[in-house]
Amino acid sequence: MLKLTDKGILIVMSGPSGAGKGTICAHLREKIPMALSISATTRKPRSGEEEGINYFFLTKEQFEEKIAADGFIEWARVYDNYYGTPRAFVEEQLAAGKNVMLEIDPQGAKNVKQAMPEAVLVFVMPPSFKELERRIRGRGTETEEQITKRLSCAVSEINTLDAYDYVIINSDLDLAVDQLTAIIDAEKCKVSRNTSLPNTFELEKDSE
Ligand code: ADP
Ligand code: 5GP
Repeated sequence: MLKLTDKGILIVMSGPSGAGKGTICAHLREKIPMALSISATTRKPRSGEEEGINYFFLTKEQFEEKIAADGFIEWARVYDNYYGTPRAFVEEQLAAGKNVMLEIDPQGAKNVKQAMPEAVLVFVMPPSFKELERRIRGRGTETEEQITKRLSCAVSEINTLDAYDYVIINSDLDLAVDQLTAIIDAEKCKVSRNTSLPNTFELEKDSE
């Protein structure tokens, strides 16, 4: 019996803060096994954030050593802090046939695509700007200053849409999760991911 690839797929999710990336991913992971990559950062943990759960919190020296050792698939300097996707975890999970999810900013997504062209880039769009604002405020995790900053960043993030393979408009959550599931299913069926399938084979007659 022929079987489709059992290699894992690297899914990179971006989109404005509050669009619903985390919510969609959490629901997806109830349906499809998906390892979530934890980023490393040099910024200080916020209250409630835990080492190895929200981020791996590194010193600037540790982070720079890891850059020098090619320990990141991608990294970026945002203001005075570094953020990066640790290479080992992602490569180990993919090699073990597991799907891996990254939630990173558009610059990071672009760098991942350059390093790993088989990565699937998905952009999560809010149904409207007004609804985005409503969701950020409703989540209640940011200060007023952070909300203003995130909303002003949303426009420039949406301008990077062309770099993505797929877009999901997160209006109805169930539909958005179904669409992401369909994207992953379609990617598994891509011929370029199934090069070990024979291109000819003899049809055997069913024995009666
Ligand atoms: P992100 O990870 O993109 O920053 P979140 O997943 O934290 O966004 O979602 C922001 C807020 O919007 C959360 O309070 C979440 O419950 C809500 N939300 C997410 N998707 C939907 C949806 N389809 N309809 C209504 N509310 C949603
Ligand atoms: P925060 O400090 O609010 O957690 O994150 C700040 C920004 O860093 C967000 O835009 C977030 O998407 C981005 N970020 C988080 N992890 C990574 C990562 O591993 N790589 C890159 N390039 N950006 C990241």
